[in-house]
Amino acid sequence: MNEIKIFAPATIANISCGFDVLGCCLDTIGDEMVIRKISKKGIHISKIEGENLPFETEKNVAGVAALSLINALYKKLDFGFEIEIYKNIKPGSGIGSSAASAAGAVFAINELLSKPFSKLQLVKFAQEGERIACGSPIADNVAPAIFGGFTLVKNDNPLQVIELPSLDNLLATIIHPQIEIKTADSRAILPKEVTLKNAVKQWANVGSLVHALHTSDFDLLSDSLHDFIVEPHRSKLIPEFDKVKKNSIKAGALGCGISGSGPSIFSFSKGVRVAENVAYTINEIYKKTNIDFNIYISKINTEGVKIIHLQ
Ligand code: ADP
Repeated sequence: MNEIKIFAPATIANISCGFDVLGCCLDTIGDEMVIRKISKKGIHISKIEGENLPFETEKNVAGVAALSLINALYKKLDFGFEIEIYKNIKPGSGIGSSAASAAGAVFAINELLSKPFSKLQLVKFAQEGERIACGSPIADNVAPAIFGGFTLVKNDNPLQVIELPSLDNLLATIIHPQIEIKTADSRAILPKEVTLKNAVKQWANVGSLVHALHTSDFDLLSDSLHDFIVEPHRSKLIPEFDKVKKNSIKAGALGCGISGSGPSIFSFSKGVRVAENVAYTINEIYKKTNIDFNIYISKINTEGVKIIHLQ
């Protein structure tokens, strides 16, 4: 096997109540990447289409994650890898643009090396890529990108990822308003302390969300999609957030929240008809603004990174 083409999925991190721990993987939004073995040692990014991103291995999350993987190999390689990135997920969108590249690179190289590493180890390598994108090696986007479905990052060090079941017929409608929110600003706006009252409500919702996924309980899922800690602050940075949330739920959505650190907003729906209604409603709201935006509908991807071809 000398070459692999993969689909590197977008992801939703946080999922309302699960700040920095919950995430899920999307199916129809993502990048493509081609990774091939070459005689030149090391990791080389040879092509990037769709976005203006760094070609230097140490500045691109795909390069950093891939280096972290090959440096962990027991036996040093006498060949290298070339990476082509076909970007569809806009960087800074809040749907795991950098995570898709980091997860895609390590998944693909692991396949070409006949899978020396487990999925959990791949998450660790991909986290190194995330470290250069956002300053810390967070796993809440790379874990669902690699494992697929819903994941809970129980612990950072040592890394523990719990795979959660998904619900058939669960769809996400996502709007990406094309405004820039600096990660530093979206972190800085968060409170340093939370009240015990809000903390209790929050962990009750995380617990009930996990139970809802295990029991395929759409009503309980809907009743768990609340965030008392982060959303009240971050939503101020996203134009029309309150209107989008209220009207999505009116259109039948199970719940609505900020995807990652924003500006994207996600809504979950049962069935494609409702997801489309929600998309229509959000479109009506945002077309009245002067902000460019994209709306996507996606099933939950239970597989994670997908192989398009391997040769
Ligand atoms: P998102 O908000 O969608 O999760 P991130 O904030 O994770 O996006 O990542 C965006 C940052 O990572 C940008 O500063 C971008 O320049 C940097 N970056 C480096 N390499 C990549 C890559 N291959 N794909 C996306 N972003 C990258």
